[in-house]
Amino acid sequence: MNSLEDIWKMLMQSLSSQLTPTALSTWFNDCRPVELEEYRLVIRTTTQFKKKIISERFAPAIKASLSDLFSSDFELLILVGEEEYLKDEDIREDDPLPEMAGYTFDNFIVGNSNKFAHAAAKSVAENPGKTYNPLFIFGNSGLGKTHLLMAIGHDIHESYPKKNILYIKGDDFTNEMVKAIREGKTLEFRAKYRNVDLFLVDDIQFIAGKQSTQEEFFHTFNSIYEAGNQIVITSDRPPKEMSLLDDRLRTRFEGGLMADIAPPDLETRMAIARNKATRLGLLLPDEIIEYIASKITANVRQLEGVIKRLTAYKEILNDEITRASVDRAIEDVTRNGTDIPNPDNIIRETAKYYSLKPEDLKGNNRSRDTAMARHIAIYLMRQLTNLSLNDIGRELGRNHTTALNSIRRIEDLMKNDSEMTGIIRDITSNITTSSGSV
Ligand code: ADP
Ligand code: MG
Repeated sequence: MNSLEDIWKMLMQSLSSQLTPTALSTWFNDCRPVELEEYRLVIRTTTQFKKKIISERFAPAIKASLSDLFSSDFELLILVGEEEYLKDEDIREDDPLPEMAGYTFDNFIVGNSNKFAHAAAKSVAENPGKTYNPLFIFGNSGLGKTHLLMAIGHDIHESYPKKNILYIKGDDFTNEMVKAIREGKTLEFRAKYRNVDLFLVDDIQFIAGKQSTQEEFFHTFNSIYEAGNQIVITSDRPPKEMSLLDDRLRTRFEGGLMADIAPPDLETRMAIARNKATRLGLLLPDEIIEYIASKITANVRQLEGVIKRLTAYKEILNDEITRASVDRAIEDVTRNGTDIPNPDNIIRETAKYYSLKPEDLKGNNRSRDTAMARHIAIYLMRQLTNLSLNDIGRELGRNHTTALNSIRRIEDLMKNDSEMTGIIRDITSNITTSSGSV
């Protein structure tokens, strides 16, 4: 049982309840099943006209029967005559964004905080190179920038499988370029980057400040843009707040469409939590969903982490899901589940680097080292957390203007002083490897 022929027979049988025998033989007599793939049934008929009728009138019923049979959704691919097709698994191997299969528009929950970015991304996916170019999506960590970037890639790959899509992280661009220079392969490097139809650049903030990288990126950008191809960029902040960004690049970025993503409101957080739970096969009472959404406010990645842990508790420990298990999951996620450090930890590590105490940074001592450590702690809170300038200032008993000045100060220093860049890198790595990450 369950050979392709058997399945086909069953499908025909279930169609026969909706069709007269004459109709059934008219449309399906010379239609043969070709292959049943993981997510797709491939069939072959003889004429375009029959294909059209089958796809318009019978495809839904065929898909519904398949989904009854296998409890999972199937596509239907209808070939005509000798037409060849690309096997599903080959398409998958070919997928330019394989590891991000779940980052689709379908899986993205739209709320007030992200609807503009979502609409812009949709529009770009529908008309690459035509509407908004570049599209620049910015917002704090964990709010869905990479998700939208990938969704654009998936959509375009589906509508135009031949388009050359390139996804790169800002820091990988830098690393690759440095490597190419070292190995004398800059021509290959350029060819690779200038010959793309869709250029997806994730976390561009990492190229700011690196002069030769920015220079190369500028030329890459121009050649893709001038060829009428689409560029989508994400960043943790808008171009005007990237003080180390080359002005020419800033102008380029701002010449497209800016779309920001803010933290989701309660309603959207609940919708996201519910959606993630459903997709993991976890049924959660509304009260629990609301509780989770009220506790995790600033980061969708954490929201997702809590749901994943609850699923694990349920599967592994066979636990009932209660407020207590939710609290445990939240604690787990906020202790070591993500890459967002907490402010105390940033202040502590920065102070330690200068052999100071956290209280020194919070107080009014103006010695050179104390002042510098304070600037750095503020700068790092801006870099590493979702806190607003006001909140950052408050952590150290300062206001938001002071916080902004500190950030500028450090950015200026980093521009002219590789020692400062090194210090920042060291402290950051101390923070992210120490235990206090949220
Ligand atoms: P960013 O790139 O902004 O740091 P990501 O795109 O990596 O954030 O999102 C973090 C996680 O949260 C991902 O798993 C993503 O799928 C999920 N996520 C973010 N926003 C949404 C949303 N609106 N709907 C569903 N999932 C989301
Ligand atoms: Mg990201």
